[in-house]
Order: sequence, then structure tokens, then C-alpha cells
Amino acid sequence: MTKRTEISEIGEFGLIDRLKSGLVKRQESSVYGIGDDAAVIDAGDYYSLITSDMLLEGVHFDLSYTPLKHLGYKSVAVNVSDITAMNGIPRQITVNVGLSNRFSVEAVEELYEGIKVACEHYRVDLVGGDTTASHAGLIISVTALGTVEKDKVTYRSGARDKDIVCVTGDLGAAYMGLNILAREKSAWQGNPGMQPQLETHSYMVGRQLRPEARLDIVFDLAEAGVVPTAMIDVSDGLASELFHLCKQSNLGVAIFEDKVPMDAQMFETAVEFKLDPITAVLNGGEDYELLFTISQDD
Ligand code: ADP
Ligand code: MG
Repeated sequence: MTKRTEISEIGEFGLIDRLKSGLVKRQESSVYGIGDDAAVIDAGDYYSLITSDMLLEGVHFDLSYTPLKHLGYKSVAVNVSDITAMNGIPRQITVNVGLSNRFSVEAVEELYEGIKVACEHYRVDLVGGDTTASHAGLIISVTALGTVEKDKVTYRSGARDKDIVCVTGDLGAAYMGLNILAREKSAWQGNPGMQPQLETHSYMVGRQLRPEARLDIVFDLAEAGVVPTAMIDVSDGLASELFHLCKQSNLGVAIFEDKVPMDAQMFETAVEFKLDPITAVLNGGEDYELLFTISQDD
């Protein structure tokens, strides 16, 4: 009898490791496959980058407080973020949607409004996709293609001893935004007449519902003539991303809690929720800031 292993026993990363075993490289142009923010393909004078992210209703978003337009924007931004984590520039996306009959044409158009705004903002072209029926609510899967100069690609594995760890913005706010939305939802369920109190928390709620990919940083780094030694985007929380950088670079890391950027409202809200703010930073996620290492000279 073959052994049954629960996915929870090995976790998402353990599962991906197991799935990738036994794969053989057949194409000379496949430079780097599974294990970084995007795959790297040799396109001649430059590298092509490709990455995919799927968002599922009930797992990644709750439509009772997620505007479809924001959801469309976010589904593009999270993929652009993975391209920027390779120090690349996004060029094209494809979009796959699974729709149940709960959705009207107008609702799907609203979703695409957000997708189109993101395409304009990140200057990418929507060049295809797939549309299917779904019995499990709304499903959105976006694939992004990008490019990077061969000598500028940044992997998770390139950090060196005594490099400095940098992050491009404050962390933890998206997670606290999610907590606020969930709290307002349950308050509303208890008393449907009430109005949600979101204005005072608009920064955190915005970080959760409509995150921005840090494509500006890719241009800033190029202008400064700096190539990070390693880079990853913060989708799963600082702890998880540092773990990936360390594991793949074969190094340890020291992080100074007082140096980690935190938004003041995030800090206060975490305390209000009886959470240590550093926990929101380390174990929250979805901030979509870039985390990178550079040599001290840079
Ligand atoms: P990110 O958080 O940057 O989107 P993930 O943790 O989702 O990255 O994925 C890590 C790596 O595993 C990536 O290289 C991704 O392409 C790969 N990967 C994830 N799921 C699968 C899968 N089902 N089959 C093959 N590769 C996968
Ligand atoms: Mg990533």
C-alpha cells in the first residue's frame, strides 16, 4: 500500500520541493526553473522572466469586502511584484478566470477595469488568457512575462557574507488591514445597520486591498548603478522571505527589530489587537515590498 502523506505535514514549500524532484532540463534556454520569484529563460541578448500567481475566493480574498476593481488590480500587481523581485521589467500578462453564475457580465467587467488600470500603471500588455466556469467561486490566475539584462538578474541565492539587508517600505500593514476588514465584517454581521469604520485605517486597508508592486525600485536601482546581490518580494512575511534568502544563499542573518520599518498606525493597531507588531511584520505578509541584500560598498 502506498503511504498517504498529508500536505500539512510537509507544507507548501515541502510539497513544491517534492514535485520538482525528477524533473530534467531539456532546453538549453531554461536558465533557472522552480525556486525563485520567476523563472529565467535565455532570450538571446537578455533574459525573459515568467511567473504565475493564482487568487481564489475564500482563500485569498473575501468578496464581502473586496471591491472587484481592486481585486483585478491586485491580481496584476502581485505578479508584477515577482518580476521586480528578479530586478526585471514586466512586459506582458495573461489572465485566466474561473467564473460561477453568481457573476454578471458587469461584475467581470469591473474586475477587468482594475486589471486594465494596473496594465496602464505598470505599462504591461494583456495578451491572452482563458475563461472557464467554476463551481468554487471566483478564480483568477495571472501570468506575467518580463525582461532583465543578463548581468542584472537577481536571484534569492546571491547574498554574500557581510551584505546589508534592505527593505523598500514598512511591513505588517497589509496584514493588519486584513484584520481590520475581518473585524468590521463580523461587527456588520452582528448588526447589519452599522457603517464600517475604515477611514481611520485607510492606509492599512489600502495596503491589503490594493497593493502596489515596487517597479519604481527597479528603475531607482538601475539609476544608482546598484545590482542587489539577492532579492525577493515580501508576499509571505519577513520571516519567510528571510528564510528563503538565507537558505538559498547559505547564510544566516541578524535583524535589528528597531531598524525594521513599521507604520505608526500599524503599530498601534497591532497593539489594539493584542498582537506584538513585530509578529505582524514577520508572519503577516502581502506587503509586496522588495527585500534585498547589497554589498556594504553599494
Ligand atoms: P512566490 O511567493 O514568489 O510567488 P512561490 O512560493 O509561490 O513563489 O513559489 C516558489 C517557486 O515554486 C516558484 O519558482 C514557483 O514557480 C514554483 N512553484 C509553485 N507551485 C508550483 C507547482 N505547482 N508546480 C511547479 N512549480 C511551482
Ligand atoms: Mg515572490
